[in-house]
Amino acid sequence: MTEEERKVITDKITEARQRIAEAAIASGRRPEDITMVAATKMNDADRVRAAVEAGVDVCGENRVQELLEKYEQHAYDGKPLHFIGTLQSNKVKYLIGKVAMIESVSSVKLAKVIDKEAAKAGICQDILLEVNIGREESKLGIDPDELDSAILEIAKLEHVHVRGLMAIPPKTQPNQEKTLYFDRMSQLFIDISAKKYDNISMDCLSMGMSADYCEAISCGATIVRLGTAIFGARHY
Ligand SMILES: *Cc1c(COP(=O)(O)O)cnc(C)c1O
Repeated sequence: MTEEERKVITDKITEARQRIAEAAIASGRRPEDITMVAATKMNDADRVRAAVEAGVDVCGENRVQELLEKYEQHAYDGKPLHFIGTLQSNKVKYLIGKVAMIESVSSVKLAKVIDKEAAKAGICQDILLEVNIGREESKLGIDPDELDSAILEIAKLEHVHVRGLMAIPPKTQPNQEKTLYFDRMSQLFIDISAKKYDNISMDCLSMGMSADYCEAISCGATIVRLGTAIFGARHY
């Protein structure tokens, strides 16, 4: 990659950091309490490394194969790595020991597989539960009405630790309030925190992407996942 490309990534991270700080302060929170995840899909190891050097807090990868390739190339060295994409049970084993957190745990069944693989490795895996907050047919995630019962099941697992919730809200209609789904997530997050379930922490609320991370922070997000805001448009 060219020096110019590197500078663009660095500048975009600086700009996003500034906007995150403003949104945090505007809602009475501290900028350092918001974690910036670089959603690195489709960006090669050099570009990921540029983001790491420019000071993102965490790298977030979507596909297991892509993660393994970049991991081998030491793209993420120096920063924690989160898995944020759709995860098939048979690929869980490749992530254990490499990722600090699996944000996209969309079912009790998947949590049980993670528990089993983490047990084999002798570790406890931090996870977030992905909530299908818009109840969309096309999306994975736990139905909001089933979240409590899912949490009670997952709390029994010794080798996973639930650290919070994650969501990818539906695309809002032009006349729709953008914060509707963020507010719903925030309410779920607060309700579950208040119940103080054993072995369940609610310290991470991962929501908000390039188009809406400031709104997400206003609604209580503690983790925002930025792709295009850092790397520019993806070319599929
Ligand atoms: C790609 C991706 C993002 C980032 O999307 P942008 O709109 O490019 O910021 C965030 N979260 C997940 C799960 C993603 O797959």
